[in-house]
Amino acid sequence: MTSKLLYEGKAKQIFETEHPYEVLVYFKDDATAFDGQKKGQIHSKGILNNAISSFFFELLDSRGVSSHYVKKVDERTMLVKKLKIIQIEVVVRNIAAGSLSQRLGWPEGRVLPRPVVEFYYKDDALGDPLINESHIDVLGLASPEEVRYLFEQGLKINSILTGYLQTKKVKLVDFKLEFGKSDQVILLGDEISPDTCRFWDSDTNRKLDKDLFRRDLGGVEEAYQEIYDRLKS
Ligand code: UDP
Repeated sequence: MTSKLLYEGKAKQIFETEHPYEVLVYFKDDATAFDGQKKGQIHSKGILNNAISSFFFELLDSRGVSSHYVKKVDERTMLVKKLKIIQIEVVVRNIAAGSLSQRLGWPEGRVLPRPVVEFYYKDDALGDPLINESHIDVLGLASPEEVRYLFEQGLKINSILTGYLQTKKVKLVDFKLEFGKSDQVILLGDEISPDTCRFWDSDTNRKLDKDLFRRDLGGVEEAYQEIYDRLKS
């Protein structure tokens, strides 16, 4: 029996289950960058991102951060609670890179004096612009209390992931989170993987994430595999 495809994104497909409050996430090998202008495939990416995200969701759950994650079903499939996604991308940063380097004129690699939390409007047609709390308010994306909660969850998740990754000799440069509501409760959703995080080797600053694909640096699949191997070590 094949279940109904509810939604297809750039890197994942969402399928219905027999349970109205749960859906299956299928991780594809497709990779895109620069708002879909660059397209490609990263061999085994779906398998690795499913495994890496499952690992992080279980770690966060053990530290009191609830997410949509229910269980890893098979190599490429995760069972999750169905969320009504809040149209805000929460980015947390520890080290300047990417768009922050451009915005502030800070060289990539400069350690930030304290973590920075940013909000982006999740809207492909607009190119996911940076927004502030006033924009979120007038757009009606979340209440001020919810924005505060997203901000605090971002910092809490950052501190858990940073601490864990340090023990695996990986620097967490920055990452993007998405949240959604299940029965009025805000839960962490989406994925946490080398597609959505910048990971650098602690000793050499070697990139172990999607920047290898974005910037055509090669060794993409090996880097995703290395992150998985280090998490499991
Ligand atoms: N990010 C993401 N999806 C997006 C935009 C950003 O997962 O649509 C992640 C990205 O992988 C990085 C962090 O969010 O870990 C910050 O990205 P940045 O704003 O620097 O974006 P860039 O300039 O690299 O597109």
